[in-house]
Amino acid sequence: TLFPYTTLFRSIAIVCGHIAFTLIGVARRAIRTSALFTAGLLLAFVFYNIIRVLAVGLGLLSRPGAFYKEETITFGLFVAVALGIAFGFFWMTTAMLTTGLEQMASTDPLTRIYNRRVFLMWAEKELTRGQRTGTPFSVLMVDLDHFKQINDCFGHQAGDQALCAVVEKMQDSVRGIDVLGRWGGEEFAVLLPGAAADAALLVAQRVRRNIERILLPGSGIRNGERVQMISVTASVGIATYRGVDDNVHTMMERADMALYQAKAAGRNCVLATA
Ligand code: GH3
Ligand code: MG
Ligand code: MG
Repeated sequence: TLFPYTTLFRSIAIVCGHIAFTLIGVARRAIRTSALFTAGLLLAFVFYNIIRVLAVGLGLLSRPGAFYKEETITFGLFVAVALGIAFGFFWMTTAMLTTGLEQMASTDPLTRIYNRRVFLMWAEKELTRGQRTGTPFSVLMVDLDHFKQINDCFGHQAGDQALCAVVEKMQDSVRGIDVLGRWGGEEFAVLLPGAAADAALLVAQRVRRNIERILLPGSGIRNGERVQMISVTASVGIATYRGVDDNVHTMMERADMALYQAKAAGRNCVLATA
């Protein structure tokens, strides 16, 4: 027969179309460009094959000359598309790996918020903006109270769950432009762009209050009593940008000092440096 590959090409077109739509469906931020590139290539190939099948059906390729010319073009295209798809998948894999690595390097695996390094980067940016435009900003240092006790009473896994619940509450307590970071173990830092001392105090109190509301299931002996719920409180220290002579390092130090005073004042409270 004159068209030995028509069925084959049709099947390939169907598979390609299927893969293309799958790719479009999963094309999220990290691999959007590469996935759409590959899908586009696949769809173009599908489109070409549909035209070809139609042409065969309409008898446009019945002359041997026309058929062989067209068949050569199809094979050429086939090779080109195959190479393009290979490149597209290579591109997608690279994009996924890169984003995965970037995410690993910038976030804390347990709570998925920024690690200290990235938090400090955002803080430095805000400092630069403050120095240029005089916009105020504040940082909070949040430390959970007697957290060792939670681990000891309910287990380390429950402690981890409590940390995640705290982060969720903190996220609910701040605006989208505020930056949360895990400073270390059960200590968190919050960057509040544009927040002067009074605004920072309000946010800090909201954070403290929302953390206090956390109730997680879990049983254990706490302070000599059998309890069925895990609750947690936090102390918060605030530092607000003081002008061009101020820097991120000293601000974090002031927030830490205020936090220390909040602990000394009985915990579950908020204090700002004078
Ligand atoms: P304070 O009120 O003075 O802050 O008391 P504290 O017990 O919270 O302070 P301390 O710094 O002595 O203990 C912190 C505890 O936090 C120690 C450690 O067991 C716990 N912790 C730190 N990181 C993690 C973590 O990733 N998961 C869990 N489950 N516990 C953690
Ligand atoms: Mg603590
Ligand atoms: Mg601590």
